[in-house]
Amino acid sequence: MTPEDSCIFCRIVQRKAPASIIYEDEKAMVFLDIRPLNQEHALVIPKEHYETIFDIPEDVNAHLHRIVKKTAVALRAAAAADGITIIQQNGRAAGQEVFHLHVHVVPRYEGQKLPHFRDIPNVSREQLEQAAEKIRQHFKI
Ligand code: AMP
Ligand code: ZN
Repeated sequence: MTPEDSCIFCRIVQRKAPASIIYEDEKAMVFLDIRPLNQEHALVIPKEHYETIFDIPEDVNAHLHRIVKKTAVALRAAAAADGITIIQQNGRAAGQEVFHLHVHVVPRYEGQKLPHFRDIPNVSREQLEQAAEKIRQHFKI
């Protein structure tokens, strides 16, 4: 089985699994995390399957981080966030659970502590779609 068949993020890229997509181009895609640390928690991924930062080519990584910045700008506006946390976990020891490289972009608020990733329940597709629509309106390429 190739990663494209078994990897959940590859399946999202191929539209074989559902996602609330905010943005995509030839090389990158942005969609909402199904277990969000805050409502507008987005993931930025390369469309090609690379497991970690150690596998991704420099040019694709540079493009990915250009899109990370655009996502941060859109999230700050859409979520009226006081700050933005960017997290990228590489390897099981670092807490990585999905082995298709992804950058978490998370809105933050003054005085708010975040729960641990593993304590968060899934949210409904309806809630994700509402949040995604708000962010799309602020996403400027
Ligand atoms: P990490 O621990 O950095 O590998 O994070 C993986 C993230 O992917 C977690 O925050 C999950 O909630 C998220 N995730 C897993 N499956 C999906 C999915 N089908 N759609 C959106 N986000 C997902
Ligand atoms: Zn993949």
